[in-house]
Amino acid sequence: MEGSETHDQAHVLVVPYPVQGHINPMLQFSKRLVSKGVRATLAVTVYLSKSMHMEPTGPIEIDTISDGYDEGGSAAAESFEAQQMNLQVVGSRTLHSLIQRLDESGKPVHAVIYDGFLPWALDVAKECGKLGVVFFTQTCAVNNIYYHVKKGLVELPLKGPRVSFPGLPPLDPSETPSFIYILGSYPAIYNMVVDQFVNVEDADYVLFNTFYELEKEVADWMNSNLWPLKTIGPTVPSMYLDRRLEDDRDYTLNLFKPNNDACASWLGRKPPRSVIYVSFGSMAELPAQQMAELAAALSHNRHRYNFLWIIRESEMPKLPLEFIKSTSEDECGLILPWCSQLEVLRHDSIGGFLTHCGLNSVLEAICVGVPLVAVPQWTDQPTNAKYVEDVWGTGLRARPNKDGLVGREELGLCIEEVMEGEKGKVIRENVKKWKNLAIEAMDEGGSSDRNIDEFVAKLSSSCK
Ligand code: UDP
Repeated sequence: MEGSETHDQAHVLVVPYPVQGHINPMLQFSKRLVSKGVRATLAVTVYLSKSMHMEPTGPIEIDTISDGYDEGGSAAAESFEAQQMNLQVVGSRTLHSLIQRLDESGKPVHAVIYDGFLPWALDVAKECGKLGVVFFTQTCAVNNIYYHVKKGLVELPLKGPRVSFPGLPPLDPSETPSFIYILGSYPAIYNMVVDQFVNVEDADYVLFNTFYELEKEVADWMNSNLWPLKTIGPTVPSMYLDRRLEDDRDYTLNLFKPNNDACASWLGRKPPRSVIYVSFGSMAELPAQQMAELAAALSHNRHRYNFLWIIRESEMPKLPLEFIKSTSEDECGLILPWCSQLEVLRHDSIGGFLTHCGLNSVLEAICVGVPLVAVPQWTDQPTNAKYVEDVWGTGLRARPNKDGLVGREELGLCIEEVMEGEKGKVIRENVKKWKNLAIEAMDEGGSSDRNIDEFVAKLSSSCK
């Protein structure tokens, strides 16, 4: 890393929402800042600091705040509402103390970079006299929808056949985030996602983990009509992009333990582009019937394509026993609870990625050039999947049937098309194009790199 410490070095305290898909991009952004001479401390919850699998985080210092569940973790909360309340109350108090402690220990904090899901962190930053910088981990498109909902600029429930939001293509209501089109499905999460905008006008900077070229129309609209925003992504480790940060190969903090050896030796025995990688990320819970349909699709295809399916331990009981047994006896398939996803995706045996379309997964697939089969589950995933298929052209959406499940035939056809069909060829070309644009954005002088430089310059001048 290029970063070197000086007396008036800017110091940022980075506070992600405590889940994998938010820690990854905010930790990565911290690494970028450090490479440009900023000092960065990442605050995770006490519970996560004890339970995470940590590789050395290099120049990023790790410190803690509390969400009120230091012993059992948030799984011990009686409800999501209670968990959110504790995170805000105990989180605010302990963030305040952490800032004071850092200030007093000769490492004064100049700015708090907080996750959009934690708008109360801006109040704490202001109380402590610090700059407040909001970091959005979802796309501009998704956040523009939430913004319109929060400000009452769109009538709910959404009425089809098409709804429009400025800067976005016309959307079927089912292509908006699930909390919006299935109103009342998760009221506490709905409140959290729309409340990201309660105080955004007071933030000193607004950052998005996306890149300008990927979301030009909507980013321009938001920039001109809402608030100045800076696109600073994708925050995928540098060695998969511009390769300027030599030590930056991995996310380094894992909530689950990756099984790298088993994975690498199995992938190493597979021919190029013969494996479909399947993962629904760190949180999605699939209905057992959906798992069965997917298992049937993978089994049916098993002599054509190999599969690596990541199934977290808590999801394993939903898998048909027969499928587990046949997979363990057969070299064509491997089921693991977690892996180093980027390492897997870049392996030349991977031909496609069947994904829930969490934004990190979608961006990672672009950066390593892998085409997608999109099987969105909830939250922002349906909107990401719409963009994957219709705007970016980096994958195909597998469509659910009238019962809301994606059937085995549909899954099988989409896998086949992406792995070796005519549409798959076009998708591969599109992915290549986006991959190059993502590299350019992060490379010296690219759109994200310039935005980061500008941000660093403002930070540095504020601490002189
Ligand atoms: N991931 C991983 N190993 C796995 C599955 C996922 O390292 O076996 C990582 C993945 O690379 C990504 C993150 O976990 O960075 C998941 O984020 P995403 O936004 O895709 O989905 P979420 O988990 O937030 O739903």
